[in-house]
Amino acid sequence: MSITTRRYAHDLHNLALQDDKLDVYFDTLNQVNERLNLDSELAAYIDSTTISTSDKKDRLQKAFNNTLDNDVLTTFFIMNNAINQKHTELLLIQDFLAYYYRIKGIGFGVVYSVRPLEKEHIEKLEVAIGNELEQKVVLENKLDESLIGGFKIVINNNVWDGSYRSKLKDLKSSLLAKDEDFEASTREMSQSIKQQIDTFEKQRVNVQTSATIGYVTSVADGIVNISGVFEAMSEELLSIGDSVAMVMNLEEDNVGAVLLSDAGNVVEGSQVVATGRVVEVPVGDALLGRVVDALGNPIDGKGVIKTYEYAPIEKTAPGVIERQSVHQPLETGLKIIDSMIPIGKGQRELIIGDRQTGKTAIAIDAILNQQGKNVKCIYVAIGQKNSTVAQIVEKLKQNGAMAYTTVVVAGASEPAALQYIAPYSGCSISEYWMNQGQDVLIVYDDLSKHAVAYRTLSLLLKRPPGREAYPGDVFYLHSRLLERSGKLSADLGGGSSTALPIVETQAGDISAYIPTNVISITDGQIFLQTELFNSGIRPAVDSGLSVSRVGSSAQTQAMKKVSSSLKLDLAQYREVLDFAQFGTDLDVATKQTINRGQHLTELLKQPQYSPVAMEDMVMILFANQKGLIDQIPLRMVKYYEQSLLLEMHSSYPEIVEEIRNEKDISLELEERMYAVMKEHSEKYRITEM
Ligand code: ATP
Ligand code: MG
Repeated sequence: MSITTRRYAHDLHNLALQDDKLDVYFDTLNQVNERLNLDSELAAYIDSTTISTSDKKDRLQKAFNNTLDNDVLTTFFIMNNAINQKHTELLLIQDFLAYYYRIKGIGFGVVYSVRPLEKEHIEKLEVAIGNELEQKVVLENKLDESLIGGFKIVINNNVWDGSYRSKLKDLKSSLLAKDEDFEASTREMSQSIKQQIDTFEKQRVNVQTSATIGYVTSVADGIVNISGVFEAMSEELLSIGDSVAMVMNLEEDNVGAVLLSDAGNVVEGSQVVATGRVVEVPVGDALLGRVVDALGNPIDGKGVIKTYEYAPIEKTAPGVIERQSVHQPLETGLKIIDSMIPIGKGQRELIIGDRQTGKTAIAIDAILNQQGKNVKCIYVAIGQKNSTVAQIVEKLKQNGAMAYTTVVVAGASEPAALQYIAPYSGCSISEYWMNQGQDVLIVYDDLSKHAVAYRTLSLLLKRPPGREAYPGDVFYLHSRLLERSGKLSADLGGGSSTALPIVETQAGDISAYIPTNVISITDGQIFLQTELFNSGIRPAVDSGLSVSRVGSSAQTQAMKKVSSSLKLDLAQYREVLDFAQFGTDLDVATKQTINRGQHLTELLKQPQYSPVAMEDMVMILFANQKGLIDQIPLRMVKYYEQSLLLEMHSSYPEIVEEIRNEKDISLELEERMYAVMKEHSEKYRITEM
């Protein structure tokens, strides 16, 4: 039923009324309708779009033996053509009938059945449904084989479905419902299985791909390879059971870490937890007088370090703006160094030389000399025998230097990882004081062993080896460490960190990889010679190869004045020394040069653990500068030096005082001092004779 046909059905109804033939119309079309409902062949013929209206009329008349009202049929087909739509004949008839019944107050419905129903059966149904709907009901019978059996009544908006199809449908739906139950249950089951699988996956996923959790895939030689911990940072601490490791390699699907403790029970498959912290060390005054390991744990048996402050071991070095140039002296108390290779606060001065040439001795003397000078000291021992370190600590203690010193130890027996981080730990400890505006002296003893430890780690981590099998970033290893030392600007408190890195050479070869690297990073080097050391010239500083690039601006005026010619004197002496071995026939000038050099060399010898105060050094060098020592027999120089200082301190304390306070030698003082010293020298010579 379409809206269009309904409207035309209404018009057809009006035409019937106009003709006053409504009942004829109804009767005719009702007959046609009944016949078409049961005769599908005829229905198809009437509903055809290719057959002409007259043919359809003829066929209908023929089917009804020409009993149908011809005018009604003509009006009907004209009306139907007016609709100008296909397949409207049957609809128009039904709409007309429906309209007719509605006007008459009769319910009009259709009873669908597989086979045509008997008239009496339809009447029975009409009565039954009429009773139900409390109105007269007319049912027309239509065939529908899909019903299988039984019948279905559609009237107005009501449907009585007694067809087998619907019964089967019910059965099916009930069966389906059961199916659904079954399915639901099976789905539930598979769901739970899937869930189990999911959670199982997740558990596995947790282990494998979590940001903070992973597991050990391999462990060997202190190197742990880890799957997982994808958000691990470089140098982050990882907790593996009772052990700790530090992240070194961050690869796409693997994290390489180095164990900072014994492998313990770290095995393949051990769970790894990222701590979210990079390696830190305790910092602060509580560390003074303490001996700690590379992680800041006390190893001196004096109990916990009472500090709540920690600093990461790696930090960005202060930039240029944050620094100022080195301008204050850091006195080592060693005559040869303070006079010729002066070190300033914030300077990085390399101590370089073969094994057993007194490198450590120079650094320790420098520490001892800081007594009462308000300079905190840190001695970082890398890869050394514990007994050696113990001796050093003992010496520092004996000389009262432990009061202002911290010793950081990563011994030769410690894992390479600890040897690797030890200098950075020490540096962080020093940085704390530097940032507070204090002065710090830090000794790295030594960076060759540090580089070797790093090389070990790198090779174990399968990083490509470069020159001398060191990894490519070995320069950065030391540059980032030493760059952290320096003199901070006044705005930042003016603190300083003076670094004395030590590098061991092989057979005096300073052009090897690590030595050249560190030489280029530092502000100068103190080069120690085995020959000098063995010939008794100790400290065995080679004044020709040693240099301090920034220290002279930090030297006191007094020291500058008395030491200006030293280097030249020694250089000239070395030059002519070779000739002197051959002939005795030397001219006066050469003899003088040799004499001066010999005396100077003798004067600059200095035993261990006996730092000389600046004022004393100035006085001795003053005497030398004025030529007062040249006349002293060589073997007496040491005694002369002692007696001169004794004399000055006891008889002329005001001179000593003045130098110490003024840090300069005025012309007047110079004269006074010369007079006094000349007198002493004379006395000395006479005594000698
Ligand atoms: P290594 O390469 O083993 O670290 P090193 O270069 O650090 O050695 P030191 O340990 O400082 O050398 O010194 C070697 C030896 O020389 C020590 O026995 C030390 O006592 C002695 N020595 C160092 N300096 C002096 C000095 N100025 N006077 C006398 N002896 C010294
Ligand atoms: Mg040493």
